[in-house]
Amino acid sequence: MKPNYIIDADWQLMNQILIADPEEVYLVAGIGWHETRFGTIGAGKIGYHLGFGYWSGSPYLEKYKGLENQLKGAHKMIVANFKFPVTLESVTDFAFNHWKSSVPTAWAKSVYNKFMEITRMNYNDHLTRNLIFGESWSTKVIAGIQFRRRVAPSGENLEEVKITAVEYQKIRDKLNEIHGTNKKIGPRDKLGEIMLYVNSFWRELIFQAWLFIHKKSTTSTGDHPFGRAIDLRCPTGMTPADFLKFITEKCNTKFNWFKVYSWGVHCSRR
Ligand SMILES: [Zn+2]
Repeated sequence: MKPNYIIDADWQLMNQILIADPEEVYLVAGIGWHETRFGTIGAGKIGYHLGFGYWSGSPYLEKYKGLENQLKGAHKMIVANFKFPVTLESVTDFAFNHWKSSVPTAWAKSVYNKFMEITRMNYNDHLTRNLIFGESWSTKVIAGIQFRRRVAPSGENLEEVKITAVEYQKIRDKLNEIHGTNKKIGPRDKLGEIMLYVNSFWRELIFQAWLFIHKKSTTSTGDHPFGRAIDLRCPTGMTPADFLKFITEKCNTKFNWFKVYSWGVHCSRR
């Protein structure tokens, strides 16, 4: 999916240099669009497509002139500092702390929007994507040592994970549709929307086995490692039993197997 504002030869060069992550080439395409409409305005006209190493009003760095040097310079900075995947959060962090554009919040929004447009992700993909990549992931366990960090789902589970994420979104949307004006139901985000916390989602098989051995789960395999289950914390103002009733009666999801806990509801597809 080459963006139409980039010519073939440039796109080819980008794909040779920007290999830190499959998303890097689209991220840089977004930066190039924002900075100079990819070489057609401002400093882009004299070879600073990304505005990298170029400051108006002060001597700019000749070594970054030309597309190849622009890409290599940006790539180095991205490899060292960018936290993939591309989300508004990761682009904003990069804008403030590394790219250091003069208006970082606006820069991040613009670059991120262009990224979303050229990768043809729609609003729902965006929500799902931030759910999948932005929130709490599995804990990794190796040789009995627990690493508290995020582990992205493996490719083989990703399709199931995405379906689960979309079904999760239905529940969150329904909560807002039905209880949006009921202030007793929460918690709320800054925009006043009801948030629905995910306690646990995809798990590595080894983590599931670890939970089982430590009697924190009743199964050593199960739905979480397949990406078909999600544990949802009960919204405030509801009991877990109310919440289960809400999910099964109002939300029309593909979840067909549930378990109620003191903290909320496990939902899975079997
Ligand atoms: Zn569960």
